[in-house]
Amino acid sequence: MATGFGYDVHAFADGRKLILGGIEIDGHPGLAGHSDADVLVHALVDALLGAVGAGDIGHHFPDHDPAFKNICSLNFLTHALNLVRERGFHLEAVDITVVAQRPRLAPHIPRMLDKLRACIGLPCQINIKATTTEGLGFTGRGEGIAAYAVATVSALPLSDTP
Ligand code: MG
Repeated sequence: MATGFGYDVHAFADGRKLILGGIEIDGHPGLAGHSDADVLVHALVDALLGAVGAGDIGHHFPDHDPAFKNICSLNFLTHALNLVRERGFHLEAVDITVVAQRPRLAPHIPRMLDKLRACIGLPCQINIKATTTEGLGFTGRGEGIAAYAVATVSALPLSDTP
C-alpha cells in the first residue's frame, strides 16, 4: 500500500466558468488558471502522482504548454490513473476536501462523485467533502478555492501488472 497527498489553490477570476470535480457550477465566477482550473481534480492528480512516486502535476502538464490551455482537467486525471496502473498499482481510495466560503458546494457533490467515478472507471472508494474556513484566510474572504486530496493505492498482483 502507498498513500499520496495533493494540495492546490486557484483564485477566482471574472469571465471564467467554475469547474470543480469535472462539473460546471452555474451562477458563480470561475477560477483563474491555464487549464480549466479544476482545483479539486488538480489536488487529486497530485495525490495519485504522489502515491506512485511520479512527481507532480506541474512536471507532467507544464502551465506554459499551449497544449494544456483551457483543457479539461479530467484529461490530467486519466493520465495519472494510467500512470498508477503502469507502475503496478490499483487505486483503492480517494478522500478530498474542498475549502470554499462560496459557493455552497454540498448540493453539487453527488454530481462530482458521478463524474469522478466515471473517469476512474474501476471500483474505488471516493469521498468528497466541502468546508468553509468560517470567514478566515483567503478562502474565507472569497478570494479563491483550495483543495486537499489523499489517495491510497495497493500493489497489483504480479499477474495483473502491465
Ligand atoms: Mg492547479
